[in-house]
Amino acid sequence: MRQEDIAQDGDQRLPAGLTGNIQTVTGLIDPEMLGVCLTHEHLLIDLSDLLPPPNTATARGFYARPVSAEAAAYCRNYSEFGTAHHRLDSVETAVEELGLFQQYGGQAMVDLTLSGIYRDPVGLQRISRSAGVHVVMGCGFYVAATHPPALSEWSEQQIAAMIVADIIEGAAAEKESRSTGKGVVYRSNTGVRAGVIGEIGCSSPLHDDERKCLRAAARAQRQTGACIFVHPGREETAPLQILDELRSAGADLRRVVLAHLDRTVFNRDTLQEIAETGAYLSYDLFGNYPSGFYPHNPAVHLLNDAGRVADIGWMIERGWTQQILISHDIAQAFRLAKWGGHGYHYILAEIVPLMRMRGISEEEVGQILIGNPRALLTFVAPRDNPA
Ligand SMILES: [Zn+2]
Repeated sequence: MRQEDIAQDGDQRLPAGLTGNIQTVTGLIDPEMLGVCLTHEHLLIDLSDLLPPPNTATARGFYARPVSAEAAAYCRNYSEFGTAHHRLDSVETAVEELGLFQQYGGQAMVDLTLSGIYRDPVGLQRISRSAGVHVVMGCGFYVAATHPPALSEWSEQQIAAMIVADIIEGAAAEKESRSTGKGVVYRSNTGVRAGVIGEIGCSSPLHDDERKCLRAAARAQRQTGACIFVHPGREETAPLQILDELRSAGADLRRVVLAHLDRTVFNRDTLQEIAETGAYLSYDLFGNYPSGFYPHNPAVHLLNDAGRVADIGWMIERGWTQQILISHDIAQAFRLAKWGGHGYHYILAEIVPLMRMRGISEEEVGQILIGNPRALLTFVAPRDNPA
């Protein structure tokens, strides 16, 4: 970083202009330029490490099949999966999908892929430039199953320093596979800077290293003014436990997003308790699991999209409009329009009209899709100096 890019007053390490602006993969933008934004998506990701092969001959056969429209339809309708469908690895495909998103008025997207699930900073930059869509990148560590082996040895301060470095210096290129046992390598800077912290991954029960990463995220938030996204464990009590941990580590809970509440919290009193902390309430599984069966937690009965919209109407009535976020969390090829899925444009094409029909006003829709992402992604003044 050049000396003149560094703020002279106050904190010496923060780039000038970070506070009050939004940091995309192509640089800082005025928050007014953001526009319609989906706050929980993945453009490039590889989840295949988390989904090992099944144990019957036919399921293994399907698992190994390449992506096709037919196989994609099967993935959507049956709880069987192909490993190739849990990978988004094409810049060209992402650009095509974002073309549809733009046709329906989409302008910006947050990609929350982290290193353990193969974050691709330069790939995101290529997609953003080519599609003409603002892309904001995340940083930090996903669930413990994806952590580099060395993470258990790292201190909270060291992890916070890595997060801060991703935001103020740029993301490291991850050149060494976890299979080499060498973990994430922080030595070759891509120059692409993260604009949010997360999605910090949590399991149920919360793993000690995940707790450490949450606390590191809080510390990095204090040092940068970034917001934090958290992927909670799949139990009703997980979000409140996470908020307690973040609060005790000094996070500003009004700048924390609890992701995936539409697969986690089914009790409205719990939702109320979460809302009262000031955190953002993210319903980000639109278009996903249309049967309502959730293979990752068969105990729950998922909402369908009409049910999600009904919950959002209820939250608006409670006065929480400024805390609501919606998205699709696309991370699978079978959800892309290319393979017959709903694509990144689904909320704009299908859900916004449904919201209108259910009495949600144009102003409220604008608050959820433009105003809230803008407020959330805009860096606020840091409270601490980077260590
Ligand atoms: Zn996600």
